[in-house]
Amino acid sequence: LAQPGVQKLSPYVPGKPVEELAREFGLRPDDIVKLASNENPLGPSPMAIAAIQAVLPDMTRYPDGNGFALKQALSQRLGVTPTMITLGNGSNDILELITRAFVGPQHEVVFSEHAFAVYPIVTQAVGAQAVVVPATNWGHDLDAMAAAITAKTRLVFVANPNNPTGTWIEKGELERFLARVPEQVIVVLDEAYTEYVETTDVPNGLDYLKQYPNLLVSRTFSKAYGLAALRVGYGICQPAIADAMNRVRQPFNVNSLAQAAALATLEDDAYLAESRRINREGMAQLEAGFTALKLQWIPSRGNFIAVDLGREAAPVFQELLRQGVIVRPVANYGMPDHLRVSIGLPAENQRFLDVLKQVLLNG
Ligand code: PMP
Repeated sequence: LAQPGVQKLSPYVPGKPVEELAREFGLRPDDIVKLASNENPLGPSPMAIAAIQAVLPDMTRYPDGNGFALKQALSQRLGVTPTMITLGNGSNDILELITRAFVGPQHEVVFSEHAFAVYPIVTQAVGAQAVVVPATNWGHDLDAMAAAITAKTRLVFVANPNNPTGTWIEKGELERFLARVPEQVIVVLDEAYTEYVETTDVPNGLDYLKQYPNLLVSRTFSKAYGLAALRVGYGICQPAIADAMNRVRQPFNVNSLAQAAALATLEDDAYLAESRRINREGMAQLEAGFTALKLQWIPSRGNFIAVDLGREAAPVFQELLRQGVIVRPVANYGMPDHLRVSIGLPAENQRFLDVLKQVLLNG
């Protein structure tokens, strides 16, 4: 039998793949819109495709297990040393490496209600106790989270912006929190969506690494850099924590296609700017659409938005599916009346709004 913490988990449920939905409802894959997994709707950077083609002939070789070139490029861009960077098979890998290196069955891990689904998974997988702190106005209640820290607490997960709510933590709030957390407790600041932030009210976690040696910032190439399928993420922290993560890391955890594509996309400033533009405009389009439908939503700084249907969202989700629109129900995140919608291309957003309007009118 699996260990007790694992028995209590349910498997992570990803957005339904387009092909599966097409088969299920007899739809044409081209007629399906998927706005369910906070993916980049733009398609990859052409530089990433070229870089992958260039490394394909080396497929018989193991990748660079230390990710030298990618770490070098990241370190220059971010102003940290390569020894502060750990590469992961997606940033999920970083979340798992930190718990495997530092958390055991005797420990507690604190995170917020409506937090990313992988936090309980990596916590309970190592036999630790998850301490879930109620949110306020959908966002992290950092005061309550700091108050929930006990002598057993080893780690705290904070996502900024948060998934699935899109809520964010402002600078002063984060600073007060970091100052309150005891130094033996690791703070994982999950910044998977940070590249979408275009306002100055959301702090950059890297600014706090010097002052707080217990801080790990995790980031990803899956979102604004458009490489979700390749699985590349990274953690930035003081070398002592990075060294411990490196000890439990699987050799070759980031494949060579992923390393090459990440390196190329990192240099493609135009791609990042376009990702942001599409996101900014798509967010405004969805907000205007929700206003027209008299629906409330949670203001978001990510590439997705949680809309409140004012009633149970599950039947609406099902009907959207039947009509070829895949979004994400978030009842498993304690949000039964909301749907989370990723920002797509203008036509995709419009299709979602049109079908939603029709479903709401008929139901
Ligand atoms: N953190 C948050 C808050 C996320 O929403 C996601 C992706 N949904 C991840 C981490 C992990 O992304 P990846 O493993 O693709 O980097």
